[in-house]
Amino acid sequence: MPYRRLRVVFLLAAAFSLILGPTPGARAINRLPANKATVARRVPPPSELDPGAVTLPHPDTASSPGAPSAGVGSASGRPSGSPSPSGSRSGRPDRSVGPGGSAKRTGSAAVALTFDDGPDPVQTPAMLDLLKRYGVKATFCLVGFRARDYPDLVRRIVAEGHTLCNHSWQHLIDLAHRPVDEIRRDLEATNDAIRAAVPGVKIRYFRAPGGNFTPELVSIARGYGMASIYWQVDPRDWDHRSTASDQEHVARVIAAVQAGVRPGAIVLSHDNRQPTTIEAYRTLLPWLKARFALRALPA
Ligand SMILES: [Zn+2]
Repeated sequence: MPYRRLRVVFLLAAAFSLILGPTPGARAINRLPANKATVARRVPPPSELDPGAVTLPHPDTASSPGAPSAGVGSASGRPSGSPSPSGSRSGRPDRSVGPGGSAKRTGSAAVALTFDDGPDPVQTPAMLDLLKRYGVKATFCLVGFRARDYPDLVRRIVAEGHTLCNHSWQHLIDLAHRPVDEIRRDLEATNDAIRAAVPGVKIRYFRAPGGNFTPELVSIARGYGMASIYWQVDPRDWDHRSTASDQEHVARVIAAVQAGVRPGAIVLSHDNRQPTTIEAYRTLLPWLKARFALRALPA
């Protein structure tokens, strides 16, 4: 019967689309676990939330109570030169605050290196080796399904004294505009994957994919005890133009960091599939170390 056959075809197609996910890049392997029981269990009750965790706990932070994510950006810092969508209450643009009230600065003179999108089975160990060689601690913004896939790397990151940041389950660039339930499931699943590797580890930070924060997303992350971190320096290390050789790309990344970094800056780079970033940091780590205090964002 043709109608029946059509229905079978439709059901098969629906099943396949469920397996493959909504986009070609989002395979079943990346799909957000949607275990309601787990989700319900993992939502921290308000009493468990640590209000101190929502701002970067630096004593010299110039906080302004009531401002979005007050205290994460020090007003004493030099402006980054790049405009910020947020404004201060004085009417002047507040260059220390990122989208949605996220932090662009550490709140102290220390510079924080942040590495996004890993763990990567090749690049993350290379970056960890390099950081160890220079005795530098950094903050790793982990993607949930990769943390699930490479628990040994999560353990190594923590064992070597680096701190952790939730970078969402599968890097949905429009995460902020998803239903609140989905956002919560996403952040919880990511923290669960990280803590499956290192039980009880502190995850004090959250970075939205693409830095696409909204005040609501920042607020949801705060509910899990995570401060939202943007960046002040972005060398766009992922943006390897086809016209540039590896050497030219590395030189551009090095120059961008050197030109942009200031005391208190949060620096964005990537340890996922970016061998040239490792190359750039071979030069950048000793250069930065000679000029700034490099510290992981405190856990
Ligand atoms: Zn990312």
